[in-house]
Amino acid sequence: MRDHSHHSLKNHSPPQAAKTAHVRELRLYLIAFTLSLFAGAIEIAVRYLLSNSVSLFGDAAHGIADGSTYGLLALVLIVSKHYSDMELPWTKAAVFVSFLLLFFGDYLVFSEAIERFFDPQEVLGWWTCLTAGISLVLNGIVVLMMYKIPKHEHNIRHDSMLFHALSDAWVSAGVIASAAIIAITNWYAADWIMAFIIAFYLLFLLCVLAIRIVRGDWKIGHDHDHSEHEHSHEDHH
Ligand SMILES: [Zn+2]
Repeated sequence: MRDHSHHSLKNHSPPQAAKTAHVRELRLYLIAFTLSLFAGAIEIAVRYLLSNSVSLFGDAAHGIADGSTYGLLALVLIVSKHYSDMELPWTKAAVFVSFLLLFFGDYLVFSEAIERFFDPQEVLGWWTCLTAGISLVLNGIVVLMMYKIPKHEHNIRHDSMLFHALSDAWVSAGVIASAAIIAITNWYAADWIMAFIIAFYLLFLLCVLAIRIVRGDWKIGHDHDHSEHEHSHEDHH
């Protein structure tokens, strides 16, 4: 257990630039949260009402886990605005919840894919293709928003998110490809094969996340921790 033997000075009002960066980051998370959950909801609806595609379910489960993580990060930013010493513990909690959500999502995708392997079913290719396309576009909007954030405002949260969102685009692209194959050839196995690929991709993400949690890699925020070392300047002439 670690005591907070010294507190950083809190009577400095943050510079305007840091405030703007904070607002921009919060806005990014809130929009990413909304778009990811919206895309996930559409995919779930189409999967159960129309297309019967398990790879589409995989994309949805992943999107919903991601969207929830963006929502949690937004919550962390809102809370840490008022209680700045809560940023680290709340980020830890958010990353851990995010891990559990992804774990549960991955479990569901694996079990659906295995089920479909033993009990092959018809899948509507074009509906799957169209819906995964919508998901790809919405994910693309999030990636574009991340690119628009100025370089000097990037932090480790931002950089890992951008990498993540870019690799996620390949998941939707994979579903589009397998769905197009099904639409053209009626080779339904392409669907559960793609679902397995997604399930293993999620397993990989889980491993990366687990390593980060175990290592305690909690570097967060903008680098404001060194300001304590700056002493006030006195001018001697
Ligand atoms: Zn993701």
